[in-house]
Amino acid sequence: MNNSNKMSLTVKVIVGMILGIVVGLLFNYFQLNSKDSFVNIYLVNGLFLAAGKMFINALQMLVVPLVFFSLICGVCGIGNIKTLGRVGGKSFALYMMTTAIAITVAIFIAASFGIGENMNLASAAKFTGKDTPELTQVLINIIPSNPVRAMANGDMLPLIFFSILAGISILMVGRKATKFIEAAEIANEVMMKMVTLVMAMAPYAVFALMAKSMAELGWELLDSLKDYVIVLISVLLFHLFVTLMLVLKLFSGLSPSMFLKKIRNAQLFAFSTASSNATIPVTLRTVTERMGVNNSVASFTVPFGATINMDGTAIMQGVATVFIANVYGLDLGMSGYITVILMSVLASIGTAGVPGVGLIMLSMVFAQVGLPIEGIGLILGVDRLMDMIRTAVNVSGDAVVSTIVAKSEGNLDLAVYNDIDAGAITSYKLHIDEAVEQELADAVQKTHDSP
Ligand code: ASP
Repeated sequence: MNNSNKMSLTVKVIVGMILGIVVGLLFNYFQLNSKDSFVNIYLVNGLFLAAGKMFINALQMLVVPLVFFSLICGVCGIGNIKTLGRVGGKSFALYMMTTAIAITVAIFIAASFGIGENMNLASAAKFTGKDTPELTQVLINIIPSNPVRAMANGDMLPLIFFSILAGISILMVGRKATKFIEAAEIANEVMMKMVTLVMAMAPYAVFALMAKSMAELGWELLDSLKDYVIVLISVLLFHLFVTLMLVLKLFSGLSPSMFLKKIRNAQLFAFSTASSNATIPVTLRTVTERMGVNNSVASFTVPFGATINMDGTAIMQGVATVFIANVYGLDLGMSGYITVILMSVLASIGTAGVPGVGLIMLSMVFAQVGLPIEGIGLILGVDRLMDMIRTAVNVSGDAVVSTIVAKSEGNLDLAVYNDIDAGAITSYKLHIDEAVEQELADAVQKTHDSP
C-alpha cells in the first residue's frame, strides 16, 4: 500500500473544508469577490462553482441506480413481505417520532429565549413562497405512472415503490429469476465502487464548496441575526448529541460514541452539499460498510429517511416560527404551535432532501398558522449556512434509525459496528484481482494467437 496515501478520507475532507472556509472568509473579509473582480469571475463563480457543482452532480448521478439495485437486493435479501412491512413500519414510526421531538424541543427553547423580540424589520430580504405539494398529491405521487420518468426526475418515493415491487415480483418468480438477482447484486457492488471513486474527489470539491459559500456569506447579516443563528445551531447540536444518541442507546443499546465517530464522513458530505438526497450514496456506504447494517435494511431505510426524515429541517422551522412571530409581535398560542408541529412533520414526508427545501416547507407552515410569508425574507441570507448544518443532522437521524431498525431485526453485524476501522477508506489504489488479470491477459493472448 502506498504510505503517502494513508491519511484517512475523513481527515482529508476536514482539511479541505477548513482550508475552504479560511479562503472563503478571507475573500469575504477583504471584499476580494466584488461583482466584476477576478476572484469573483474566475474563482468563486468560476473554478469553485464548477468543481463544487461537478462533485454534487457526480454524487447525484449515483443515487438512482444505487437505490434501485440495492433495494432489489435488499428485498430479495429480506425474502418475505411480512418482514419488509415490519421494517417499513418501524422506520416510519421512528422517523416521525424523532422529527416530532426535534421540532417540539426547538419551539420550546426558542420560545423560552424569546428570540426576535427586539428585532427591527428593516433587514428583511424579499421572499416569495412556492407551492408545496398537498398531502393527497404526495400519496398519489408515491405510485409512479411512469417509472422511467420518476427515475429521470430522481423522485425518491416512487422510485422506492417501484424498486420494492420489482424486488417482490422477482421473489415470486422464484428460481427462474436467480440470474437476475445475481446481476442486481453485481450491479450493486459496482455502484458501491463508484461511490468510493466519487468520494475520492471530496477533499478538493469540499474545499471549493466551502470557499464559495463562505465568500458569499454576509457577515453583517450573520451578526444581526445572531440570536436566531445561535439558538438554531444550539438546538441542532443538542438534537444530534443528546436526543438522537439517547434514542440510539435506548432503542438499540449500541455505543453512541462509536456511532458519532463513524457517521462523520456522511455528516461532512451532507454539510458540504446541503442535500440529504445527494448524500444517499455516502450514507448508504457508511451504515452498511462502517456500521454493519445489512443492506436488506439499509437499502430501504436510507433513501426513505433522506426523503421523509428531516429532524434538522424541523428544528429550523420551529426556531424560525418563534423568531418571526416575535419579530412581528404575533402570538400563535398553544394551538398555533401544535399546528406548526403537525404541519412540519407532515411536510417533511412529501418533500425531497435537496438544498433550501426547508424554506419552502416553512412557507407552507406559515400559511397554515397565518404568519406573514414575507417574514421568511428575514432569515434568507443565513439560510445556506443553516441548511448545511441541518442537513448533517437530517442525515445523522437517517443513520440512527437505520441502525436501530437493523439491530432490532437481527440485521446488524456487531463486530463491524464495534470495529473502529471497519470500512474506513484510506487508500484508492486501483485493485484488480490477480486471477482476473491473468484471465484477461490469457484471453488477449488467445485472440492474438488465433489466425
Ligand atoms: N437541505 C435539507 C436536506 O437535504 C433540506 C432543508 O432543510 O432544506 O435534507
